[in-house]
Amino acid sequence: MRSPNLARTRELLAMGKTKLRSGIGLLTGHLPLRAHLFNLRLAEQKECRLCGEESEDNLHLLCRCPALACKRYKSWGHMFMTPKDFENAKVSSLISLVSDTRLGLTE
Ligand SMILES: [Zn+2]
Repeated sequence: MRSPNLARTRELLAMGKTKLRSGIGLLTGHLPLRAHLFNLRLAEQKECRLCGEESEDNLHLLCRCPALACKRYKSWGHMFMTPKDFENAKVSSLISLVSDTRLGLTE
């Protein structure tokens, strides 16, 4: 996030607590994902539970995880993305990308 985004702010303020927690976590990386838990010495592995190819962090899940490529393609027309591609995306669409996975994040 480079500058304040009024539309994103309004969307976040209208969310319930659980969804808001997931959305903020996806934007900031402060989620109980393996890379974060590994850094806190609360997990033994940091590899992604969905693909095992990279550290499981928010950017991996949103942009590069091959296990989520089809969901990205259905939502945005691209299998792999960059953080810049998400600058104006609705936070609820980011949450939808990682919901219904083994990660335990909910909508
Ligand atoms: Zn992955």
